[in-house]
Amino acid sequence: MGTKTQIAALPGWYSLDGEPHLIGSRCIACRSYYFPKRTTACRNPACGSDTLEAVSLSRTGKLWSFTDACYQPPEPFLAPDPFVPFAIAAVELEHERMVVLGQVVSGVDVGQLRLGMTMELVVEPLFADEATESLVWKWRPV
Ligand SMILES: [Zn+2]
Repeated sequence: MGTKTQIAALPGWYSLDGEPHLIGSRCIACRSYYFPKRTTACRNPACGSDTLEAVSLSRTGKLWSFTDACYQPPEPFLAPDPFVPFAIAAVELEHERMVVLGQVVSGVDVGQLRLGMTMELVVEPLFADEATESLVWKWRPV
């Protein structure tokens, strides 16, 4: 036994159905992508549309930049307490060409990362209580 209900630590930011993916928005007029998802007007000053649709973002991308997080990060990055240093990746999404930050999966440190390598979106537990496990998206080298 011991199976816990898995929930999103940040509901609405990503889907846990099937293969996990981030949920962003796309302007129906100029096709600009946004993450986190926007519900108000498009930010493109040349556009002016106020109609954005929710879209599933690419699950893979190229590693654009990375660093070591040796301090407790600000929201929306949630970290276990006590804090354990981890790597942060900035990944340029394959289709959208938009850079999305995220933690790197447990067990992978900056010494194993190389710019341009392909990264894949996964979810890992961030914290848990007796009944539920809260998941957050992370990047994993493919
Ligand atoms: Zn637009």
